This record gives sequence, C-alpha cells and structure tokens, in this order.
Amino acid sequence: MLNTDLNPAEIQKRLVCWFDRHARKLPWRSGAARRDPYRVWVSEIMLQQTQVATVIPYYRRWLRLFPNVTALAGAKPAAVLKAWEGLGYYSRARNLHAAAREVVRRHGGRVPATRDGLLALPGIGRYTAGAILSIAFGQPEPLVDGNVARVLARLFGIRQNVKSGTGQARLWKLASLLVPPKRPGAFNESLMELGATLCKPQNPRCDSCPVRQLCVALRRRAVDRLPNTGKRPQSRLVRQRALLIWRGGRVLIRQRKAGGLLGDFWEFPDTVPAGVRCSSGRRIATVRHGVMNDRLVVDAFVCRWQGGTPKGQGRGARWRWARPSDLRRLPFIGAHRKIIAANVSGFASGRGQ
Ligand code: SF4
Repeated sequence: MLNTDLNPAEIQKRLVCWFDRHARKLPWRSGAARRDPYRVWVSEIMLQQTQVATVIPYYRRWLRLFPNVTALAGAKPAAVLKAWEGLGYYSRARNLHAAAREVVRRHGGRVPATRDGLLALPGIGRYTAGAILSIAFGQPEPLVDGNVARVLARLFGIRQNVKSGTGQARLWKLASLLVPPKRPGAFNESLMELGATLCKPQNPRCDSCPVRQLCVALRRRAVDRLPNTGKRPQSRLVRQRALLIWRGGRVLIRQRKAGGLLGDFWEFPDTVPAGVRCSSGRRIATVRHGVMNDRLVVDAFVCRWQGGTPKGQGRGARWRWARPSDLRRLPFIGAHRKIIAANVSGFASGRGQ
C-alpha cells in the first residue's frame, strides 16, 4: 500500500524529469544500446557487486568480442572467462554464457520479453528481469536493488528491515505500484540513479534531490536512520556517577519526575544536591549497565552528610532519606539497582556510612 499522502504521479514526473536532465552518460545508455535487451542484460549483470567505473571498459570490450547473443553463445568458455577476468564473481560470466546458449537454442537468438521466459534463464533473477523488461521492452515491471531499496525506504519512511522477507515484499509492492506504464524504464533507472548519485548511504545530497519535498525521512529527520538494514547502530559508552550520601543509617535518594524517561523510579543523585554539605566521596563500586543503545559505566561514591537539606526539584521530584531496607523495596533505575546489589552487605550492616 502507498501508506501516505504521497502522490505516485508526482513522484514519477519529478524523477523522470530529473533523470532526463541529470543522468550520467554511460555506454549502455547511449543510442541503440538503450533498447537492446542483450546490452541491458550484460550491463546489469556486470554492474552487480561492481562499480560503474570498473564496469565501463569491460562492457566495451565485451561488446567488441561478443556483440550479440549469438556471438556469445558461440564463444568458447575460456574466451568468455578471459573477457571477464578481473571483474570477479565468475559465476556471472558462466551464467551469461549458458543463458546465451539457451536463448539461441530455445528462443531463436531473441532475448525473451516475458518475466517467466527471463526467469527461466541461468543467472537472471527478479531484479535483472525487471531491468530488461522495463528498460529494453518498455514494460511496466518493477525492480528493487540496494539503491532502490534505500531510496524507497527513505522516500516513504519505511522502518522495516529492508533485508527481511516482509521488508522486501513491501518494497517490491511499492515499486510495482509506482512504476508507470509510460517510460517505465526511465522511471526505474531514475530510482537507481538517484540512489547511486544523491540518495547515497552516507551524506545524501537532499538539497539537490528532485523529491525532497515529498520525502518522509527528510521531513521526519530520519534520513541517517534509514534504511533499516537490521544492523544495530554502534553503541555509545556513557560514564556516570552516583553519590551515596549517608546520614546516620540513611542514604539520600530521589524520585524521578513522573512522565519523563524512567519517571517515578528512584535513584541516587549524581551530584551533591543544592543545600547539602557532605564529605568528598570514596569510590565503592563500578557497575555496567546497558540501556537502549548506550553502555553505561557508573561509579558509585560514598560520602558523609555534614549538614543541610536538599533544595529544589531539579531532575528529582522528591527527596528522601532511605533506610537500606527501603532500597530493596523501592523501584530503582537499573544501574543503581546493581549498585545496591553490589553493596548489599554494606547497606545491610550500615558499613556504607
Ligand atoms: S530527500 Fe534525501 S533522503 Fe529523501 S529521497 Fe531525496 S536524497 Fe534521499
């Protein structure tokens, strides 16, 4: 489903106009090559896992050696591998060769113009079939590769993991709803081109993007969080401290404001509260605790109260001098619960003072 108020016709128009004006000039996009299914097919297979700049000389040499399906089908396997030498992922070359032979044998040398016909050939999956059908044959067939997944996830604010089964299903569904009957190839290429040139994984150039006014991720300031590829962002190390200020057999705690993060939970203060005087602290424990994406390291210090009463609300809405037995009864934030557990014998015996 197109889940938003976005307008597919507007997206199509903006992307195709932008593509017509700004697409990179590449050998497989020039002149007759653009509509030649064999050339589209070769370029798409070469571009899998490989940079455009690396592919260009290989593509040109390949077409000099094997200008059409029949020439490729008639080549010796060693010549095919030699022409691919250095591009890597050699199964691509072997599959291309085997598929060319099948096209000659079963389709009279004509690349099939149907999805099923293409998918039956070695090395051709849903993406390559979509590229050949839309670009060479002008059929409104969708395609989704890594670039397109990134663009769609950002443009529509898709938070699902784009590599998951449901994420992929959603992207393909969106791509098929978006691809227009008119110039479907240019539209698909515009999505790929946008992902390759502006909507890049790092530092996308949203200022120059033709669909920036429609982009959900940009509006929600979520561009750097999308697409979700299932990888957890790097965790942050956060160092904190907790002060256990003892007054006789009681320790000072505060309750966090209701409604906020961990509202109503109790904690030890991290600084000496206004109005209170106490001795300088002695470190008694260090605890580690994971919260969301943060790794907390909390140093606990014991201090002795020397006078005064905590003033002001600050982050803590309520202050209290608590007995050790209260500490185990009250709900405490996770890291501080660990401090209590680490020092449980000290609290129990009053040695924490
Ligand atoms: S506005 Fe930015 S994030 Fe959105 S589609 Fe364009 S380049 Fe990608």
